[in-house]
Amino acid sequence: MEILLAQESGFCFGVRRAVKIAYEAKEKWGEVYTYGELIHNRQFIAKLTEDGIKVAEDMNGIPPGAVVIIRSHGISPQEERELRERFKVIDATCPYVKKSQKIAAKEVRSGKELVIFGDRSHPEIRGILGYTQGAGVVLSSPEEASSLPTSSRRAVISQTTNDLEDYKKFVGGLLENTERLTVHQTICSSTIQKHRSAKEIAGKVDLMLVIGGKHSSNTRKLYKACRAIQPNTYHIETPQELDLIDWRKYERIGITAGASTPDFIIKAVMEKIKEEGHD
Ligand code: SF4
Repeated sequence: MEILLAQESGFCFGVRRAVKIAYEAKEKWGEVYTYGELIHNRQFIAKLTEDGIKVAEDMNGIPPGAVVIIRSHGISPQEERELRERFKVIDATCPYVKKSQKIAAKEVRSGKELVIFGDRSHPEIRGILGYTQGAGVVLSSPEEASSLPTSSRRAVISQTTNDLEDYKKFVGGLLENTERLTVHQTICSSTIQKHRSAKEIAGKVDLMLVIGGKHSSNTRKLYKACRAIQPNTYHIETPQELDLIDWRKYERIGITAGASTPDFIIKAVMEKIKEEGHD
């Protein structure tokens, strides 16, 4: 049995950076809170909590003046203002998300309608919407894009973790009803490389495993992208979930992992396959 691990698997640049910032803050200040879960991975959140980095779901759960970390997804400027008034804030927003926030604010200031390709309920998108003063429209499919009314001037950005091919189709939908369209490539290079290497592996194996939190949006997109190439693709969160799949009958198993999947889980999955697989 052969295991092929995609080159770009697991923590991305922005998540590694946010985790480093959180541990440095803990070292310096003793008690720190993250404003929302630092990453969408239950096992890693349990580890952070164990190490004394607490999760606050809202501002009321944080003692006045405490040290609070803004996670890599970023937040709206309105929320950030309030957070800074009440606490000592350390900003771990990913630079790629910052770039999207700046583009959104600039395009809306210039009078364009801003279309955002993404998931309205995702924290990154909620934060970006705060920069659009109500002029941002969030859509999630090319069909929705092509059904918009005709406009003379629009700008479009994408959630940083979307698949590039999906974004191209989405932009195609907007071209049907927009006279002058400004397209910004806001998918981060980490996502592009991760999807590219995962798709490459998915085309070479009999079974593809995508490891990551079940509520992690970027892992779900990675799963969808792999599944389009290899129908025999499974999204698992822990090594124990391997027991739900008849994986031992396959000769070549491909593995990739979402941007919020820690190395220790990827390693545990690989070890289980090596230890329990046939020769
Ligand atoms: S997926 Fe990309 S944008 Fe999101 S945190 Fe990671 S590097 Fe930053």
